[in-house]
Amino acid sequence: MYKIFISLIFLQISLFAEVEKVVILGSGPAGLSAGIFCGQANLSPLIIEGEPCSGQLELVANIENFPGFPGGISGEELIGRLYEQAIGFGARYDTSHLTKVDLSIRPFCLYLDNGTLVQTETLIIALGTKKRWLGLPSEEFFKFKGVYASASCHGELFIDKNVAVAGGGDAALEEALILAELAKNVTLIHRSGSFNAAPYLIERVLNHPKIDIILDSAIDEILDVSKGLLTGVSIQNLRNKEKSILPCDGLFVSVGREVNTAYFKEQLQMNEQGYLMIQAPTSLTSIPGVFAAGDVTDMPYRKAITASAYGSIAAFDVINFLKKQENNK
Ligand SMILES: Cc1cc2nc3c(=O)[nH]c(=O)nc-3n(C[C@H](O)[C@H](O)[C@H](O)COP(=O)(O)OP(=O)(O)OC[C@H]3O[C@@H](n4cnc5c(N)ncnc54)[C@H](O)[C@@H]3O)c2cc1C
Repeated sequence: MYKIFISLIFLQISLFAEVEKVVILGSGPAGLSAGIFCGQANLSPLIIEGEPCSGQLELVANIENFPGFPGGISGEELIGRLYEQAIGFGARYDTSHLTKVDLSIRPFCLYLDNGTLVQTETLIIALGTKKRWLGLPSEEFFKFKGVYASASCHGELFIDKNVAVAGGGDAALEEALILAELAKNVTLIHRSGSFNAAPYLIERVLNHPKIDIILDSAIDEILDVSKGLLTGVSIQNLRNKEKSILPCDGLFVSVGREVNTAYFKEQLQMNEQGYLMIQAPTSLTSIPGVFAAGDVTDMPYRKAITASAYGSIAAFDVINFLKKQENNK
């Protein structure tokens, strides 16, 4: 009964709501570059932004390899510039989060967490990837109340405090280095016996006076739920199974990423890892009118510049699609 009522409300909204020409899901380099090119073509694209600080680039303190910035540029600044450029071309932003999508009929239906239904002729999916968490009940308890995912966004809460970082890849080492500029001490905890990161990052971490390293170990609990305050983490050495407690004031989790495509399961073709299959070199997916760009696709190039490039390709594909549709009328 409740579901019928909700569907009727959405149906009523959809009868009166304007249908967008193009909606872009995601505001990373792929989504924003698509926004720039769609905007320049006077399509007035609507960009659904998602959560602040959830894009990958916003985590990066200094991007050293984005063409045009010889001294490097912070992820936050690069995203800010792309954002401004897209607005300049008439892109519009909605800070909501996508919760459900129906691609079975055109216009496509997008359901947002603020209760709105957005309908669109074409869709560019640029949702990138999201952080993986440890999956502990105590982590759930302390999430965003002591346990965080991004040092760039929440590191300032730990000025002169002790923090732990879980993980051993590029991202974890970057997080540890950012935090070491703010915190009293940083302990990097990694499951394996060695880091799986760029040599220059490993060298910086190993030589940093404020970073301690615990290898071959996993966090099995975040303390202390009974006090409602994060006081430390319980660690198990995976070789000798011994447990110990590391007192700390906060924990940053950086243990990998997974692709943001759950919304499209059984609607769009994806590979075994969940990456959306596109008909390279175009951005066409398995449904006409739906395009994908950046890290969400099955293309192996996962960099800001390749995401940006694919965003522009998706915009051109949208422009051509709408033109053909107009000509067929
Ligand atoms: C630690 C780290 C360091 C890196 N360093 C570099 C580097 O030095 N140089 C480089 O070129 N690349 C680097 N990368 C890779 C680069 O960040 C990615 O390749 C690039 O950001 C991919 O862009 P994207 O637009 O496809 O996805 P993302 O940047 O992940 O953007 C995805 C967007 O989707 C939004 N979103 C997610 N879910 C929803 C939802 N349900 N509803 C609405 N919106 C949603 C997010 O808010 C975000 O805006 C790094 C990545 C990491 C993690």
